[in-house]
Amino acid sequence: MGCGRYAPSPSGELHLGNLRTALLAWLFARSTGRGFLLRVEDLDRARAGAEEAQLRDLAAIGLTWDGVAERQTDRASGYADALDRLRAEGLLYECFCTRRDISEAPRAPHTPPGAYPGNCRDLSPGERAARRAERPAALRLRADVVQLSVQDDLHGEYTGVVDDFVVLRNDGVPAYNFAVVVDDHLQGVDQVVRGDDLLSSAPRQAYLATLLGARAPQYAHVPLALNADGKRLAKRDGAVTLGDLSTTRVVDGVEHGPVGPDRVRGVLLESLGLPGESLAAALEAFDPAALPREPWILDSPLTGA
Ligand code: GLU
Repeated sequence: MGCGRYAPSPSGELHLGNLRTALLAWLFARSTGRGFLLRVEDLDRARAGAEEAQLRDLAAIGLTWDGVAERQTDRASGYADALDRLRAEGLLYECFCTRRDISEAPRAPHTPPGAYPGNCRDLSPGERAARRAERPAALRLRADVVQLSVQDDLHGEYTGVVDDFVVLRNDGVPAYNFAVVVDDHLQGVDQVVRGDDLLSSAPRQAYLATLLGARAPQYAHVPLALNADGKRLAKRDGAVTLGDLSTTRVVDGVEHGPVGPDRVRGVLLESLGLPGESLAAALEAFDPAALPREPWILDSPLTGA
């Protein structure tokens, strides 16, 4: 049996929606006898102090993980090996496109919206050499399918686009879809629980996993937390982090005392239809089939019990 994981990007403090997803990832992993890892996805948007704050808040709501949290920036050789493997199989090509080149490219009728139109797929060696002098290349995967179906615990069979997606950006940084698959493979992750905003990435990632000799993981894309306007919960929505909630606040003229991490965990677990008194009780009661399928709407301030 492999592991589950929670893989936040250290771009700021975790908000209640992130903490809820982390709880779900933990519940899915532990209820199936899996290990549970924490991975810091710091290739892209790392903010000073965010990693420490995120790990502190996850621990504060009672989550435990196996070993130390690994950082993507420590896995350069893993990404290089995976690129070598794909390159050796002729599955990579250089792409010189700007966003504009992509949006303005003529599209074949069978190219789905959002898919790379293939501008650089068949450049001749001479064309490539000329383009290299103009701008650095990204690397794209030469995909031989246009769509793929994955199985998701909450969404059932989901079919989505697989295109020639970027694996290495033109600034030399591994792209999200590539890094995540390499990380999961190297870390023995066989269960991926995350927000359902990433469901449409799953077919690309599952496809790449098979090219790297791994099996597609078990997927569960869970509903997001939304604010009162139905928009994705964000820091600006007010008291939505453990840090904000730990102080006395005045909302619409009413004073609210501090709300501690145990109470926050209780509210999050109850929003999932689970007993809020402890993680152990929630784990005991956990049944993926009974989870809410709708977003969690946070339309009133979280207050003490
Ligand atoms: N790092 C991504 C995020 O914070 C999650 C990636 C994943 O779980 O695959 O949104």
